[in-house]
Amino acid sequence: MAVNQLLNNIDDDKKQSSKIVKTDEGAKDGQNKCPQCGATDISVNARTGRLRCNFCRHEFDPEKIKGMETDISQLEGEIIGSGTQDIIEDTQNILTFKCSSCGAEVVIDTQNSTTARCHWCRNTLSVNQQIPNGAIPDVVLPFHLTKEEAREQIESFVGKRKFFAHPKFREEFTTENIMGVYFPYMIVDINSHARFSGQGEHEVRRYTRGSGDNRRTYYDADLYEVEREFDLTIDGLTVESSSDKLQKNSSKTNNIINSIMPFDIENSVKYNANYLNGYTSEKRDTNIDQLRPLVDEQSKDIARFAANETLKEYDRGVNWQREELDVKGKQWKTAYLPVWLYSYQQKKGENSLLHYVAVNARTKETMGSVPIHMPKLFGISVLVELVGFIAYLLIRDFDYRFIFLFAGIIYFFIMYLRYRNSNARHHHETETKKNISNIRKVDKLIQHKRGLSNSKMSGANNNKVSGQSLSESVLNSLKS
Ligand SMILES: [Zn+2]
Ligand SMILES: [Zn+2]
Repeated sequence: MAVNQLLNNIDDDKKQSSKIVKTDEGAKDGQNKCPQCGATDISVNARTGRLRCNFCRHEFDPEKIKGMETDISQLEGEIIGSGTQDIIEDTQNILTFKCSSCGAEVVIDTQNSTTARCHWCRNTLSVNQQIPNGAIPDVVLPFHLTKEEAREQIESFVGKRKFFAHPKFREEFTTENIMGVYFPYMIVDINSHARFSGQGEHEVRRYTRGSGDNRRTYYDADLYEVEREFDLTIDGLTVESSSDKLQKNSSKTNNIINSIMPFDIENSVKYNANYLNGYTSEKRDTNIDQLRPLVDEQSKDIARFAANETLKEYDRGVNWQREELDVKGKQWKTAYLPVWLYSYQQKKGENSLLHYVAVNARTKETMGSVPIHMPKLFGISVLVELVGFIAYLLIRDFDYRFIFLFAGIIYFFIMYLRYRNSNARHHHETETKKNISNIRKVDKLIQHKRGLSNSKMSGANNNKVSGQSLSESVLNSLKS
């Protein structure tokens, strides 16, 4: 098999030249008053996604951040939102404010929250200016799904998965205590140039030879030398930025939360603590350099799948021998994105597994993991296996009758995945917004191949996805 050469991005030494854009311009700590009536009790109206004064019902126009590049094809060097700068370890998380109404001292622990009520006069105080502990992102995407709507989504998801659900879970399941959580993400825009070269195969003919048990299918194919070169912009590649959610093989079903991406991040607004009222949030605890390897891998995946859109003729696949992605410009910002979350702790002897059902509070996309009653699933799978075996004995004139011998095993895995969704993930390679332009193509016929026995090109790698999780070494550095 050909060596797959991955030339590295050229952005490693651009770090010194990165430009910081201040995204909390004009943000004010302390009391944020309604311009209409002066009340400080303000929260998001999930129906409109706008902030609303809970006293006079006045709604606010959302503010957008200024100064970041909006035309990605013009991006050069590295641009970083001020809320995305490295976390400084010994930053004070506890901030104390003097209430401007009554003079009392109000403490806000930014580790858990960015607002607090003055215990004397009941006014709300909030932290909107960025502090270098990762608690204040550049932007926030407001909740746009009410708790009731989220409960319906979760109940319908679990309702379709009751038969094999663990009896204890069935008994304890209730959506009363679901939580609205803002999870931290890193959003990256990339302006790049991609170059691929290798070989591809196009099927010309398929036919069978021999008879009876020796009957086989053969293929004729044309082998081409293939090259693709194009400009590529990637708009809003999104990765998790809390080390807990980046751990994909832990005691939590984090893949569930990952799989409800993408979000309509283009509707994100400038951070304001009032968007968080009534919800919880999780603080970012990773920096750009720790996420860089994952972002690099994912952008290469996006480039590879962008190239695939120009390769429809190569139905037997393409083997890239050389893949290059030159990054001309990159822009990073941090965001809080809204998720409704149901969680259930399943005890398994010493160990336990935290199952989630998560709802994207913008798009309603729902995914979950439901604990399985294994004895029941085993039992029914054995029955299916028996029926399959009888079918195997009775049905004679079917080429693939051996499949009946695996009926129970296949049934088991289909049901297991339907309940646990342990393979669910965000398909960044196809679900991220991108644009390709200035395409240059080379398709040169090299050889007519005849009588091939494999239906796909051997060594085809144009559908490879590599950026699925952080490397072990980076994960370990996050744990410590
Ligand atoms: Zn008001
Ligand atoms: Zn007060």
